Amino acid sequence: MKLLQHLFENNRRWAEAMERSNPGIFQRLAQGQAPKYLWIGCSDSRIPANEVIGLLPGEVFVHRNVANLVIHTDMNLLSVLQYAVEVLKIEHVIVCGHYGCGGVQAALRQDSLGLIDNWLRFIKDLYHQHAALLERLPEEQRADRLCELNVIQQVANVCHTTIVQDAWRRGQKLAVHGWIYAIQNGLLRDLNVCISAPEQVPDIYQLGG
Ligand code: ZN
Repeated sequence: MKLLQHLFENNRRWAEAMERSNPGIFQRLAQGQAPKYLWIGCSDSRIPANEVIGLLPGEVFVHRNVANLVIHTDMNLLSVLQYAVEVLKIEHVIVCGHYGCGGVQAALRQDSLGLIDNWLRFIKDLYHQHAALLERLPEEQRADRLCELNVIQQVANVCHTTIVQDAWRRGQKLAVHGWIYAIQNGLLRDLNVCISAPEQVPDIYQLGG
């Protein structure tokens, strides 16, 4: 007997239902993909990228990690971003954080969690950078505000990569958006921090001008 049998049964039912509602979908997907969006989100199990934006398989390229961080030395993320921008020619990068993010909450505490503390350090740095603003807020609002500030910072980090800078220099259309998702009601909110041109980032990050 197969381990995790129920997941294979779920999969068969899902594939049948998908084929019924979108005849020929798997045959089309087997020919290739042409998504218009790259989603950079949190690994949290409650935010399945395709589902929350109502898109079918093949319509969104996805990278997820703990607390949706964009670190300029992360080869995994950079490889996804390069492939998405240069090969798939996606037109929109969506950095999507979420309220109640366990990674952000953990970064706000001083517990020692092991290796992941090194990853969460980026959020501690962000807290430290915005400490004056965050510490003026009631304690129960700090984590959620930090979730928003984290998205805004990661949008900037995407725009500072050589990949996005080069794309803009070539004249490629590319917009980077910052959104936040509320697990409580399933709704997305646009943080209105969209960046779509090199002039929108500080001079020091503009390459090859
Ligand atoms: Zn999270």
